[in-house]
Amino acid sequence: MYREQDVAAPVIETAMPIGKNARFVIIGAGISGVLMAIKLRERGFRNIVILEKAAAMGGTWRDNVYPGVACDVAAHLYSYSFAGNPWWRSRYAKGPDIWKYYHRVARRHSVLPLIEYHSEVVSAEFADGAWIVTTSDGRRFDTDVVIAAAGRLHAPVMPQIEGRESFAGAAFHTARWNPAIPLAGRRIGLIGTGSSATQIITALSGRAAKLSVFQRTPQWVFPVKDTPNAWWRRLGFWISKRQWHRYYLQLRSETEARGKAATASEEGRKARDQVCLDALAAIRDPQLRAKLTPDYDVGCKRLVFSDGFHEAVQHESVDIVVDPIDRIVPEGVVTSDGRLHELDVLAFATGFDAHAYIRPMKVVGEGGVTLDEVWRDLPLTYRAIAIPHMPNFLMINGPYSPGGTSSVVGIAEAQVDYILQLIDRIVGAGVLLSPREESSRDWLEAIREKSRHSVWGTGGCQSWYLDKTGTPTLDTSTLSELQAQLSTPQWDDFIERPR
Ligand SMILES: Cc1cc2nc3c(=O)[nH]c(=O)nc-3n(C[C@H](O)[C@H](O)[C@H](O)COP(=O)(O)OP(=O)(O)OC[C@H]3O[C@@H](n4cnc5c(N)ncnc54)[C@H](O)[C@@H]3O)c2cc1C
Repeated sequence: MYREQDVAAPVIETAMPIGKNARFVIIGAGISGVLMAIKLRERGFRNIVILEKAAAMGGTWRDNVYPGVACDVAAHLYSYSFAGNPWWRSRYAKGPDIWKYYHRVARRHSVLPLIEYHSEVVSAEFADGAWIVTTSDGRRFDTDVVIAAAGRLHAPVMPQIEGRESFAGAAFHTARWNPAIPLAGRRIGLIGTGSSATQIITALSGRAAKLSVFQRTPQWVFPVKDTPNAWWRRLGFWISKRQWHRYYLQLRSETEARGKAATASEEGRKARDQVCLDALAAIRDPQLRAKLTPDYDVGCKRLVFSDGFHEAVQHESVDIVVDPIDRIVPEGVVTSDGRLHELDVLAFATGFDAHAYIRPMKVVGEGGVTLDEVWRDLPLTYRAIAIPHMPNFLMINGPYSPGGTSSVVGIAEAQVDYILQLIDRIVGAGVLLSPREESSRDWLEAIREKSRHSVWGTGGCQSWYLDKTGTPTLDTSTLSELQAQLSTPQWDDFIERPR
C-alpha cells in the first residue's frame, strides 16, 4: 500500500528557478502532444522533445484510415482555436483532411523537428528531483517535466473468438486498416457496430458485393447532414474573420446544446431522443428495424452521428447478422445457428481499451510509488491532469476528462492552459508540484457522483465509458464548464517542494 507523503510546507519561495532552460518530455505526437509543444514554444521554452512510438505524428488520425473515417464534431470546432481553418470542405471533416490540417499546423509552428519517431516510452522514473524517461530501444531522456499525451482511444481491442487467427483472407482492426486491400465487389465482414463501424457501413454499402455486419448491440444513431462548405463560403470565411467567427459561435452553441442533452437538460434529451427514434422509424423493413432497435437509453453508449447510415444499412448488399459469432474459420465467420458467412475480408470494429491510458508504461514516482499502485482501484487523478505522488508529471486527455459532450480539441486546450499555469509555477519557483491525495480523491468522487447519475451510468447499457465498478470514467462537464473549472489552479490542492 502506498501512503500520502504530505511532508512539505505548501509554498516554497526560496528554490532556484529553472526558467527557460527547463526540460520537457511530451509522450505522444497526436493533437494533444503537438498542442502542448506549440504552447511551450510560445512561452519561450526550447528544451522540448516529443517521444512518439510510431513513424508519423497525428495519433488517431494517423492510425484510423478505414473507409469513411471522419470526425463527428463540426470541423471548425475540431481545430485549434489559434489556428482557425476557413478551408474545411464540409461541416464534418474527413480523416485524411484532419491529419493534413494538424500536420500543417505542427509544421508552421516548428514542432515537427521536436518529434523523435520510433520512440516508444516504456518507463518514467522520478529520481533526485527530475524524471528519467526511457524508450524501448534503451535511450534515456532526463527531464524536469513529463507531459503524457498518450491518447485515450489508442490501444485497439481484439475480441477473443475461437479461430480468429485462422481466417484465410485479410483481417485487421479498424485502427490498423490496410488501404491496399481491394474492397469493391468483395465479401466483407465487419464485427462491431460503434461509430467506426457505422462510418464503414455507410462508405461500403453498395460498393462491397456483400457486407455482413456482426452485431452484438444495436446503436442509437443520430442523423446529421454533412453540408459542404461551398468555395464562395470558404472564401468568405477567409476574407471576413467576422463571418467566420459568427459561424464558429453558432457551431459551438449547437455542440454545447448537444453535449448538455447528454448529461443535463431533460428537454434537450427528449428532443434528441425523438430525432433518433424518427430516423429508426423510417427503416422500411420491420425485421431490420427490430434488429437495429436498442434496448437501452439514447446516449448511454457514445451516440453515433451519421449522414447516410439509415439509407446505407437498407441496401441489399448489407446483412445485419444478430446471431452470435460461434467461431472464425478460414472461409469466414460461423454464427451460432451453424451458418457460414463466407468472406474475403474481415474487419474488427471492436474499439479501444480506454482504460489502458499511459499503461503498459512503467511510471515510478516519489518514494518508489508506482502508477499501478496509485491506480490499483481507480485511475486516481486531480482534474484528470495530475497524479498524486508524481511530481511535475502531467497529463492531457487523461482518465475522467470530459468526453462525448464536446470536441476533444477544446478539452485539450483547456487542460493545456491549466498545465501552463502549473508549469509557470514549476519553472518560476523551481519547485516540484504534485496534487494532494485527499484533494484528488475529493475531486474524483465528485466527478464520479455526477457521472453515475448521467445517462452513461443509468441508461442500462455496457460501454467503454464504464470502469470495473460500472461507473463512467468521464466528466459530465461541457466545454464552457470545464474552461471555468480550469481557469485558475487551486494551489492549496497541491503539495509544493523545492527541487
Ligand atoms: C476513429 C475515431 C474517431 C474519433 N472521432 C472523434 C470526434 O469526432 N470528435 C472528438 O472529439 N474525438 C474523436 N475521437 C477521439 C480522438 O482520439 C481525439 O479527438 C484526439 O484525436 C485525441 O488526440 P490525442 O493526441 O489526445 O491522442 P491520440 O490521437 O491517441 O495520440 C496519442 C499519441 O501518443 C502515442 N503514444 C501512445 N503511447 C505511447 C508511448 N508509450 N510512447 C510514445 N508514444 C506513445 C501514439 O502513438 C499517438 O500518436 C475519435 C477517436 C477515434 C479512434
